[in-house]
Amino acid sequence: MRVTWAAGTLTFRLDPEDEITGKAADGYPVKLATNSCTITNVPDDAHPDLFAVAAWTVVAPWTRRRIVFDRAVSAELARALHDGWGVEAGPVGADPRPAGGTLAISYSGGADSVAAAVVYPDAPFVHFRRAPHPRVPNRWPHYRSDVLARLARQTGRPLTEVRSDLEYTLAEPRPGYPEHHAVAAGALLNADRLGLGGLAFGYEIGSRWLGGGRYLHRFTPDNPMWAPHGMWGRLFAAAGVHIVLPVGGVSEAVTMRLALGSELAAQVRWCLQGTGGPCRTCAKCLYKELIQAAVERRPLDTPLTADHPRARKWLRPPPYGGQEMVEYGLARIPGIEDTLFADCLEYFEASEESTSWLDHCYPPALAEIPEPWRAQAVSFMTAQVGLMTEKEIHRVETWGS
Ligand SMILES: [Zn+2]
Repeated sequence: MRVTWAAGTLTFRLDPEDEITGKAADGYPVKLATNSCTITNVPDDAHPDLFAVAAWTVVAPWTRRRIVFDRAVSAELARALHDGWGVEAGPVGADPRPAGGTLAISYSGGADSVAAAVVYPDAPFVHFRRAPHPRVPNRWPHYRSDVLARLARQTGRPLTEVRSDLEYTLAEPRPGYPEHHAVAAGALLNADRLGLGGLAFGYEIGSRWLGGGRYLHRFTPDNPMWAPHGMWGRLFAAAGVHIVLPVGGVSEAVTMRLALGSELAAQVRWCLQGTGGPCRTCAKCLYKELIQAAVERRPLDTPLTADHPRARKWLRPPPYGGQEMVEYGLARIPGIEDTLFADCLEYFEASEESTSWLDHCYPPALAEIPEPWRAQAVSFMTAQVGLMTEKEIHRVETWGS
């Protein structure tokens, strides 16, 4: 793989051993559509290791044995690529980038992201906004990146908005990040400008510790995407931008409660389709409604019924992505037996007692927050959420077994 950067445009050329089909770090198969993308509002003179990591978030799935950058990287960065992916990276010759003192939030506007922002009320935001690609048709026109960007501006936080078409480098399964970390490409390139030493993501306990997202249902202490000692954690750290998960120890019930109870509540938006508000009928709206109704202890409020195609998934037996939250919702929502989740109930014996661990914070998640920002998260979680008991910790660590 050979990569070049010019005025925010990344162009990459595959070597003979590279392939246009690959797998993201979570094992999910992805297919390449095109070999260039642009990120706006980024400087030309960022540290070369920042350019390298930003490029790697886009080209990692296609790269097999080596990567040649257009500017020399540090030996530390090359080592992180070698140790993590078995890839030879060069040329080597730059001094490493020292970590800055600022923590920024990679801000999407969803409940998890807002909750991360609530933990650090002074942290600036970097918002990734999808832009059209000049050569790849947009087959997902209902995605309202303009609405999400407007809500991000309305938060009043210091905001860096970066626009990019990098999601269109992916042909399949659909426009999206080649690696989850590609959402950070613009933040990485702005790291010198913002003095960043850390970048906070809204990944919660399901994504970090319970095998959530594209994994299913197992305890993942060595999560390759988000553990500090994982391949991505070490790569970001080598470029002086530590991955920070402020809400990595709490469930989506807690992030929902924190987000909707915060001063940013009016700007929370997890739906990518609605304009005046969430659409209420997409898969994400349904899943988040399950959580919100449980948190608010009220009946489910959805126009979807059991004969809707969207309900089909819930007629199949588990495991489901985000299964811990499905159990949490089923155990708490009054009248759930009269909703489209009715048939789902027979697969679980979830009770409030058996799911109460999802109301507390898993302490090892706080321990892995880098020192400059750890105390703030510990005091916040202790005061606002409460730490898990030994028994609850055991629930996390035996999840899926
Ligand atoms: Zn929706």
